[in-house]
Amino acid sequence: MILKRFLPNEQVKSVLEIRPEDLKARGIKGIITDLDNTLVAWDVAMATPEVTAWFKLMTDHEIKITIISNNKEERVKLFSEPLNAPFVYGARKPLGQAFKKATKQMGLERDEIVVIGDQIMTDVLGGNSAGFYTILVVPIVETDGKLTKINRKIERRILGWMRKKGMITWEEE
Ligand SMILES: [Mg+2]
Repeated sequence: MILKRFLPNEQVKSVLEIRPEDLKARGIKGIITDLDNTLVAWDVAMATPEVTAWFKLMTDHEIKITIISNNKEERVKLFSEPLNAPFVYGARKPLGQAFKKATKQMGLERDEIVVIGDQIMTDVLGGNSAGFYTILVVPIVETDGKLTKINRKIERRILGWMRKKGMITWEEE
């Protein structure tokens, strides 16, 4: 079933709910995460103290994090560098190249990495297609850049369908 490609392995409200202990217990050693509306709102330039603490928590538990974003170099670099986090900008998710690059850079295997993001059309589809375990988060804010709007429309239909089938556990606020 083609729609399976859009279905995340797991859904959480926020990345902050993802705990290093749980990841480690499952043999996970690395995270590939989206930036906009996953870590902070798309129009917020820098990490919040909570997100900074979450990065530190993961690093303290020896879990590597790479940020991959379809956004521009300037945006991704400015956000990632203060966190000392490796990043890939202009990632062209859902295409697989950036995922491959991040995996290679972290020196890990695919099954040792989880992919986190707020968008089904890019993060989940891309992560699933490349063979990763995917975690969907609720977007931090509803508003978005222009390009994302079209994706969101399609996404809402898929989400609605999944909700009907009982595949989505969290409720829309
Ligand atoms: Mg996003």
